[in-house]
This record gives sequence, structure tokens and C-alpha cells, in this order.
Amino acid sequence: MDNKLILMIPGPTPVPEQALLALAKHPIGHRSSEFTPIMGEVFQNLKWIHQTQNDVLVLASSGTGAMEAGIINFLSPGDRVLVGSNGKFGERWGEVCQAYGLNADIITAEWGKPLDTEQFREKLEADKEKQIKAVIVTHSETSTGVLNDLETINRHVKAHGEALIMVDAVTSLGAVNLPIDEWGIDVVASGSQKGYMIPPGLAFVSVSAKAWEAYKTAKLPKYYLDLGKYRKDAAKNSFPFTPPVNLIVALQATLQMMQKEGLENIFARHQRLKNATREAVKALSLPLFAPDSAASPAITAVAPVQVDSEQIRKVLKKKYDIAMAGGQDHLKGKIFRIGHLGFVSDRDILTAIASLESALL
Ligand code: PLP
Repeated sequence: MDNKLILMIPGPTPVPEQALLALAKHPIGHRSSEFTPIMGEVFQNLKWIHQTQNDVLVLASSGTGAMEAGIINFLSPGDRVLVGSNGKFGERWGEVCQAYGLNADIITAEWGKPLDTEQFREKLEADKEKQIKAVIVTHSETSTGVLNDLETINRHVKAHGEALIMVDAVTSLGAVNLPIDEWGIDVVASGSQKGYMIPPGLAFVSVSAKAWEAYKTAKLPKYYLDLGKYRKDAAKNSFPFTPPVNLIVALQATLQMMQKEGLENIFARHQRLKNATREAVKALSLPLFAPDSAASPAITAVAPVQVDSEQIRKVLKKKYDIAMAGGQDHLKGKIFRIGHLGFVSDRDILTAIASLESALL
């Protein structure tokens, strides 16, 4: 029964009724007098959720489009960049850098372990000529459920040189504290189908003044993802291209919900759901893939040792209409992932855990 599906994957996440109703409305013109004030409010509230006064631009793409926009708008072919890679999405940063001819120095860690912040410090300290143009990190590594220590990595970046810091916050924005202005994060990419609680289709990029300086000399070709165009039009609460207007009206609704809840409460809720999930998994004697000290508040990866994780997922789906995510790449069949990001409630977690227990019998 489709209408009862409990979506506990790390995106798309469940969508609240306020947003579903907005999606059901007739579209309005994106240059109309009705749309402009909506967009004004959305831009304002995006700055609020990003904890920044920087530009927060909206793209009609998935999260990867925001990552790619970060690379092509602020860097040039041959630029040396440091990339953290401890999962599928860190790898993706490396692939995007390679696609555009950057000279990427990849700092790896085993999947399931956090990035070693000392390795960033050492590389940055050794870069006496200040050749490193950007340090690129995945905050919440969705493929493993690891939260990387962005605050410390960023501190090392700030202490050594002028590199930009670019962050994939696709499953951390709106789930975990990421004070962009306080920390001075230059470029942050995220996507609508995660903490924003609306369906896939929009991506967000926040851009600092320092990144805009780099934009002036960046030499990679761009057109649709040229953020300069988006910035110019955002000043008029508008877009260079036709945006998915209904998604934006839905986003207006979920940002209002988030404002009502408050940042601290949003972070506390994700923390509570994470703790509840991890404690329950421990009580079921299943091993957790990421350590407590680096656990993402958005997603918990479970590593069943004696059971096939794909089998567990099949039972959960068939018997209980609960969707959990499998492992990616070499982790397929070895782990499964429980999403507790966005519009997921305490009741969803309780139901999921009870169903998991029953599936294990
Ligand atoms: N980065 C992270 C951490 C993600 O979790 C995802 C998607 O799950 C992406 C990037 C890619 O986003 P998209 O699939 O929306 O392009």
C-alpha cells in the first residue's frame, strides 16, 4: 500500500502536508507579481537556515549540480585542490575535479571512518607557496553515516593560506549546526530532497565574498551553472532561467515550518533521532558502521555481520512498507542505512526499529 510507505532513506525524505499542498497548486509565472515576493521570502529564509549573509543561490538541479557549480565557478584548470574522500560523495568531489582538469590531491580515509584532520593540517602547512586553491570536504558522508570534523579542517584552512573551503552539506544542512558566517565557509552545496523536506529538483549554493573574488579570475567554461547570472537575478528576487515554481512554493512552506521550530530545536531533534536510532541498533546487537564520535545526525549505517543487509531491507519493504537504503558500491549487501533526516518523526523511528527487530527474527 503505497500511501503508507515510511521513507527512511537519506533522501528523498518524507514531505509534510504543507509542502504537498503547495505542489498541488496551479503553477504561477516566474516573472509574475505573485512570484517575486515569494522568492524574496525564500531567499531571506535560505540565508537564515544557512546562518549566513552570503548569497544563497537556487539552482534547478540535484545536489551534484551545486557541487559542480562550486568547482566551475571558482577554480581554473590545473588548480591544486585538497579533497577529503571517505565515501561515495567524497569520491564524487574527486571525480568532478578530474572532469574539469583540476590537480586534486585526495586525502582518503577508510569508508566508515572520519577524515583525519591532521592530514589536512600537514598538507596545508607544507604548502609554503600557497598553491592550494581550495579545500573540499563532504560534511555528512551519506554513504557511511560519518560526520566529518569540518570545524577543525576549516580551522586548519584558515590558519594556513588563502584556500577557499568548499563543503558538500547535502545531508547536513538543516540537520546539524553549520554556522557558515561564524566559520567563514566559502561555498556550501545542498539539495532540496534532504533537510529542506521537499522533493528533489532544487539545489542551493552559498557563496562568500572571497569566493566571488575567485570567480573573477576563474577560467572554466560555464553557462547554465554560471553563478554570476544567478547572483545578478537573485538581487531582483528572480532567476536567469525558468525555475520549478511549485517546488519553490513548497520550499516557502517548509522554510516557514523550520523557522517556527527554530534552528536549535531542529538540530536537537536530529540529534535525538540519531541517538535513539543508534541506541536501538546497539540493543538489537547489530554493529554500527560509523563510530559514536563521528556519527551523522542525518543517517545511521548498520553493518549486520551474520545477515545479508539486502534481505533485511526486502523484508522491511515487503512486510512493513518501510524503505531503508542499502550500501553503495563495495558496501552493497554489507550495510543498510536508516535515514532520520528532515520530516522524520519519533514515531517513524519507533516503528522502524520495532519492524527491524521483527525482520531479524
Ligand atoms: N552529497 C551527498 C552527501 C549526498 O548525500 C548526495 C545524495 O544523496 C549528493 C551529494 C548528491 O546529490 P544528488 O543525488 O541530489 O545529486
